[in-house]
Amino acid sequence: MTELRCPRDDSALVAKQIHGIEVDHCTTCNGRWLDHHELDELEATRVEDAGLRRATIRYADRDSELLCPICRRQMSAFNYRGYDLELDVCEEEHGFWLDAGEDGRVRDIIDERVRGLRRAVSAEQAWKDFLDGVGGGGVWDSVRSFFRGGRRR
Ligand SMILES: [Zn+2]
Ligand SMILES: [Zn+2]
Repeated sequence: MTELRCPRDDSALVAKQIHGIEVDHCTTCNGRWLDHHELDELEATRVEDAGLRRATIRYADRDSELLCPICRRQMSAFNYRGYDLELDVCEEEHGFWLDAGEDGRVRDIIDERVRGLRRAVSAEQAWKDFLDGVGGGGVWDSVRSFFRGGRRR
């Protein structure tokens, strides 16, 4: 395999382990090249459940000014999961370019996203529990009859 070069400053990339994943690291700009499947692996370091990681990660696709270090084609830039985080991707699925610190932001965002989903799920469950709890009469019937009564024209 030929040596990869940084799409920003053309420095030679060196292999480096981050969170147990081997990425190609630029010692000049601290950017990182992840193989296509490694972005998912990076997310998996925070969230093991693949179901929670699914869904679109690319929003607001546009042309990137960077070239893929493997095929030298122009990459696409996109907003990762709709957040204010721009990543670059090769359309030939060679990989993703992350600027310095962006791998940390990916991990923060996936954390935040899963916390949000868990909150939504537990709110829904709490609402169901509430309906079950009042089901079969009592408060719920009085609430309903109150509203029916209030709608007289
Ligand atoms: Zn660089
Ligand atoms: Zn490519």
